[in-house]
Amino acid sequence: MSRGRKPKWMIDIAIERMHILFENAEKQFPKHPERSNRYVEMAKKLSTKYNTKIPEKWSRRYCKNCGSFLCYGHNSTVRLINENVNIFCGECGHVMKIPYQREKKNKRRANYDSKQKRTDE
Ligand SMILES: [Zn+2]
Repeated sequence: MSRGRKPKWMIDIAIERMHILFENAEKQFPKHPERSNRYVEMAKKLSTKYNTKIPEKWSRRYCKNCGSFLCYGHNSTVRLINENVNIFCGECGHVMKIPYQREKKNKRRANYDSKQKRTDE
């Protein structure tokens, strides 16, 4: 792999393609979960090749450990534990912890917290 930065337009195309791959993964998941995993694999390759991150929107929709596409309520569970969002992969049992701070804008925080308390009780 050649090192150095790729032109911005190339990176833009790579990001666009990653969005499309994940959108396809989501569409295919109910019937063909194995295809979804292929799409994730392709998106990860693009991410490496263009040295650019998987779009934030999708970065927690796949398992960082086994690469499975995660569909909440099917092969994945999301829990709010302490200050972290824990995403549990039902395929390999890996748990990804994402700091809650990044998750929601601060102004929505109070509201969300009180809701959370109510459901816990
Ligand atoms: Zn996994």
